[in-house]
Amino acid sequence: MSDEILERLPDGVVVVGADLRIAYLNAAAEGLSGWIRTEAIGRPYHEVLALRDAAGFPLHERGELVPRLRTVRTSPERELLLRRRDGEERWVAVRAAFDRDESREVRAVLVTIRDIGRRRRLDHARSDLIATVSHEIRSPLTSVKGFTSTLLRKWERFNDEQKRHMLTMINHDADRVTRLLTDLLDVSRLEAGRLELKRQEVDVSEIAAHVADRLGHSSDGRVIEVRFPESLPKITADPAKIEQVIVNLVENAIKYAEGPILVSGEATDDDVVVRVTDGGPGIDARHLPHIFTKFYRHGQGERGSGTGLGLYITKGIVEAHRGRIEVGRGDEGGTIFTIALPRGD
Ligand code: ADP
Repeated sequence: MSDEILERLPDGVVVVGADLRIAYLNAAAEGLSGWIRTEAIGRPYHEVLALRDAAGFPLHERGELVPRLRTVRTSPERELLLRRRDGEERWVAVRAAFDRDESREVRAVLVTIRDIGRRRRLDHARSDLIATVSHEIRSPLTSVKGFTSTLLRKWERFNDEQKRHMLTMINHDADRVTRLLTDLLDVSRLEAGRLELKRQEVDVSEIAAHVADRLGHSSDGRVIEVRFPESLPKITADPAKIEQVIVNLVENAIKYAEGPILVSGEATDDDVVVRVTDGGPGIDARHLPHIFTKFYRHGQGERGSGTGLGLYITKGIVEAHRGRIEVGRGDEGGTIFTIALPRGD
């Protein structure tokens, strides 16, 4: 009965005898270690549980499976690398319980092992993110600090034009930090699944016209044409978020491409499609698969350019609406972003 339960346990259980040889392992432990029971039983435990710590020290060489202290009944959880029979290594969480006789000698060690690959990967991704964010925030702040301290120390030595130039730089860099923090808040909401959509009836062509008007004015008169059929059906969506998506794509076209920009679209049976087309230079085929990745940026844009989060957020918003986004190259070499938002009727 108890064996049956152990067999069904999702965590690996290994029993090591007082002779430090394998006495038993359950099905999950077979799966994790790559050993089968009949071959494992009777072997020195470290052949089957080939565990080492992050620094590379094998557990058994330090005699660490059984603690010297005779009063210890369980060991705290440790994260260790398990070398499987096929040579592959896996992160596992290991705990042990010690079965002792009256004189407190170890009779058997019960070891549990749990695959923590996913947890380790998430932890890694998190520390990568913190490192990137710290770097992204530090560089504009360093420049703000540099310009302000120069201005404070040598105020009289600069003429008005030089001062204006430095203040403009400071202004740019402060904006950049603010933008980065706003983007990061969006990212954390998206990743936690907490992006709230305030859905209502939305006319996408109206939003596009409004965006084109606003960005056309603020970008020294870049031509932004809007072309939708009169009969475009309304969809149920969050108008502010749809606007953010179109703004992101049009701003990218303004920043990274030349020539006129076209925001167009139509309805298909299932979707309302929106396309943002620009006049080149296009995104190199090498970069296309990565373009929606967090912090992906290619070519160092001019000062104050993006955070590499824009398209990641754009994709997240579109997908929160159950839509799709694709990128491709136009016939004339520019870039075309295509969004399909479900009509839902
Ligand atoms: P950023 O905040 O840096 O603009 P995005 O996620 O919006 O980040 O874009 C990622 C990268 O994709 C940009 O750094 C740029 O190199 C490239 N990119 C985006 N849109 C275009 C476009 N319309 N034309 C050319 N390159 C683009």
